[in-house]
Amino acid sequence: MSDLQKKSAAQRQVKPMLKLEKVVRSFSQGAEQLDVLKAVDLTINEGEIVALVGPSGAGKSTLLQIAGLLERPDSGSVSIGGKRSTDLSDQARTQMRRDHIGFVYQYHHLLPEFSAIENVVIPQMISGLKRKDAEERGMELLQCLGIEARAQHRPARLSGGEQQRVAIARALANVPDVLFADEPTGNLDPQTADNVFGMLVSLVRQTGLASLIATHNPELACQMDRIITLRDGHLVEVDPESLS
Ligand code: ADP
Ligand code: MG
Repeated sequence: MSDLQKKSAAQRQVKPMLKLEKVVRSFSQGAEQLDVLKAVDLTINEGEIVALVGPSGAGKSTLLQIAGLLERPDSGSVSIGGKRSTDLSDQARTQMRRDHIGFVYQYHHLLPEFSAIENVVIPQMISGLKRKDAEERGMELLQCLGIEARAQHRPARLSGGEQQRVAIARALANVPDVLFADEPTGNLDPQTADNVFGMLVSLVRQTGLASLIATHNPELACQMDRIITLRDGHLVEVDPESLS
């Protein structure tokens, strides 16, 4: 590796793309208060893929929704690419989310009345891209995910794995800084899940973005750079050995 390459690798590794500071979130459940996140700190650098594991109800989705700017924390701050989102208006936060964040859900949430390619094109056009450029990028992504032949089909005519691949293409279409995925293969059979997950991780690695992926599957988690879990409202690092 040349000095230049070494330097750029080092620079890449230390650029924090996602930063959570003292993030707190509680819910009231009847008379009780449930403290799901108690002062959570988390930094994910460019090019880093982090797995979030833990049992159902641990707070994984709550954390992803807050980090992905879909929900606000009770207190604490979320920064994306060095920019604090906390003090922004709702409108500015939505804009930040559209331009800098990709989100893949457990269920695909594609627009049922639009074709696969339109589902990938529409969010890009909302972010200001011309149709032609959005279509070009969309087709490129569908191609990378091996579903370009399905581009004109509506979601109902696609298999579960294909629907999730379209959802991945949509999440990556705006060239986000951070990609969140909340149990993205949780609804798929094990073989399809492995296949789709492999594609997701390989695309994320190619693009070098920062990523936080919640998964129940320890084997999938072990493919990532780092594993974290929520224990009693706090984030702790997990030793991959303890999962196998
Ligand atoms: P996970 O994704 O790890 O299964 P969640 O983040 O969905 O966990 O939920 C964590 C806890 O917070 C659960 O006990 C859940 O019932 C509770 N919770 C999540 N969202 C809400 C809400 N909007 N109102 C009340 N309780 C909630
Ligand atoms: Mg969840």
